[in-house]
Amino acid sequence: MDRELTLMAVHAHPDDEVIGTGGILAKYTAQGIRTVLVTCTNGEQGDGPGGVKPGEPGHDDAAVAERRLAELRESVAHLGIDHLELLGYRDSGMDGWDGNGHPDAFANVPVETAAGRLAALMERYRPQVVVTYDENGNYGHPDHIQAHRIAVAAAEKTGIPDKFYYTAVPREGIRQMFEFMRANGMAPDDFELPDDFGTPDELITSVVDVSPYVENKLKALAAHASQGENIPFLRMPPEAQHQAFSREYFIRTTSRVAAPDHEDDLFAGLR
Ligand SMILES: [Zn+2]
Repeated sequence: MDRELTLMAVHAHPDDEVIGTGGILAKYTAQGIRTVLVTCTNGEQGDGPGGVKPGEPGHDDAAVAERRLAELRESVAHLGIDHLELLGYRDSGMDGWDGNGHPDAFANVPVETAAGRLAALMERYRPQVVVTYDENGNYGHPDHIQAHRIAVAAAEKTGIPDKFYYTAVPREGIRQMFEFMRANGMAPDDFELPDDFGTPDELITSVVDVSPYVENKLKALAAHASQGENIPFLRMPPEAQHQAFSREYFIRTTSRVAAPDHEDDLFAGLR
């Protein structure tokens, strides 16, 4: 291999890096692999001080963005990520929010324009492995869907990544965790897990053990304190946090190198 091994994760908002990919970012950095986090928006549509929601009086987009980018830098430090790249687009807000209509919202930027900027980063870092969301943005957030679209387009345009992945939440694992929480009185009584929640387990190709990095993930998540109200993981008991955070799951959509159908290393075939 004459290229430095490099992992690039493409995420929508400050805080998205932790739950599904914080462990691989920490683990591969520790192995000497170069890690690059691309965060597409500034998170303007997050909560303001005191939990003020976007659109409510006192919600200051610029102040929220500044705070969240500072939290992101702290999270990046806890995970040891080598390079943080900010595309600086405006957060579109959750599906159906007023922010969706803002002309500068990330979801309204032409895919080609944003993909061109991401392609330039792929040219600079030349990642063999790229990770982003699935075509539904994992849960339908317009910025996650847009991040997926630009990552796919940039990968196609540059032809650089050898392996391309979507993050996944295993349906069976989530069901077991929820049952564990319910049995221990930790789940809200009025909440039922939808049957179609998460990814069918048979679609998952890659499961990475990141158990030595659970503490890094927890610290990184805690760094996003201003969004704490939206991060139920922070309020889970430690056993449940460890169960939830010790493995990360992916669907491999492309591989140009020989790698097993089921692998425990995103760099399998590249080392
Ligand atoms: Zn997000």
